[in-house]
Amino acid sequence: MTAMARCPNCKKKVSRDNPYLPFCSKRCRLLDLGRWLGGEYHVAGEKVAQEQEETAEQERDGDEDRQE
Ligand SMILES: [Zn+2]
Repeated sequence: MTAMARCPNCKKKVSRDNPYLPFCSKRCRLLDLGRWLGGEYHVAGEKVAQEQEETAEQERDGDEDRQE
């Protein structure tokens, strides 16, 4: 009996020893959680877009060392 979980986010199969069960990855877990918090969660059964747009905001810290 192969009990493979399925990621609620991307519907990928997840192995049982995955630390992020039932999600396949940390990313999916965070995305799913984010949907819940955002109130945009859709009930499973409808295929949602697999690729979520990642908002990669990079904040650049200016150098604190100032040369005079
Ligand atoms: Zn996933």
